[in-house]
Amino acid sequence: MLNLLEFPGHEMVVFAGDEESGLRAIIALHSTARGPAAGGVRLRPYRRVEDALHDVLELSRAMTLKNAIADLPLGGGKAVIIADPNRDKTEALFEAFGRAVDRLGGHYWAAEDMGVGPDDMAVVARTTRYVAGLPTGPFAGGDPSPVTAAGVFEGIKIALRHTTGSEALAGRTVAVQGLGHVGSNLCALLREAGADLIITDLNAALLAETQREYGVLAVSPEEIYTVQADVFAPCAGGGILNEATISRLNVRVVAGAANNQLETSACANHLANRGILYAPDFVINAGGIINVAAEILRVRNPDDYVTQKLNGLTATLDEVLGQALREGRSPLAIAEEIATRRIGQLPN
Ligand code: NAD
Repeated sequence: MLNLLEFPGHEMVVFAGDEESGLRAIIALHSTARGPAAGGVRLRPYRRVEDALHDVLELSRAMTLKNAIADLPLGGGKAVIIADPNRDKTEALFEAFGRAVDRLGGHYWAAEDMGVGPDDMAVVARTTRYVAGLPTGPFAGGDPSPVTAAGVFEGIKIALRHTTGSEALAGRTVAVQGLGHVGSNLCALLREAGADLIITDLNAALLAETQREYGVLAVSPEEIYTVQADVFAPCAGGGILNEATISRLNVRVVAGAANNQLETSACANHLANRGILYAPDFVINAGGIINVAAEILRVRNPDDYVTQKLNGLTATLDEVLGQALREGRSPLAIAEEIATRRIGQLPN
């Protein structure tokens, strides 16, 4: 049973329905202290409304931390659409979702997340202007996933430096969970840098195809938690790091793109106690929202803006990991402190 008292501080949570298109969505605005709330739309066949609500409340809170730590003039928000990506994705559904976003008058900006791509965002844009991650148009930033992957790639190198003394990837092994939009881009960067990969995905065809492409070791979704590697890079769903999976990990570093990787925040201490350096997800995966921010803010030189913000993010991750190791605390605690401080400050 979802305990709403565990979710203090959300500014607004909206249930949006449309009978004709079958839309059932929840939009959560966690904080607009730094600017309009921005965050992706996740489309999943949630079994229960409680599961969707839990997800959107957690994810929107993470967006507040993420946008603050990335030093963006944006607050935290997120949307979930309860639908099956293989069956229910229609233009009418996304148009109805856009109308719901539009009614919020710009307090929430939508972009893509799991189950949703740039083409879907283009349909949402027919009924609202408060949408980013568009494939075409004067300010279109396109799919944010390659920028997310670039940020994760830099983050992996920093985490390796803190644990091994070197950022070099040649001869290192990275276990990648999830080969979708971010995971596939990350695999390409890692291979190019000379890393060995161990890969997994629930989608057997995608797994086989990626294995053929790179000639690397493919394992089952369960095995990925036990393989010996330098880095585990979760790039699939959230909540995958719990007591059971952390106990089985055979790595020095956890650094990946997935949102809300820890089942509970206590898992950060479990990782630290096991000597595994954890790059907090909302720090290492903020590359995508930086790309989205350039589009929302209509900055004049988006490439320069994204590079400058990504460099700042990388420096912040370096600071978080360094401080955590010096003080013997979990990187999550340090990152939350920095982000919380920034929520109360005016954006640069
Ligand atoms: P995606 O839907 O394109 O890919 C996810 C992949 O993970 C799919 O191929 C799926 O089959 C696989 N998968 C799901 N559960 C799995 C499991 N238990 N074991 C193995 N494989 C599994 O999603 P994406 O856009 O690549 O995002 C991946 C994660 O990164 C998500 O948690 C997302 O919220 C987060 N994220 C994405 C971005 C972005 O720019 N796309 C930005 C920040 C965070």
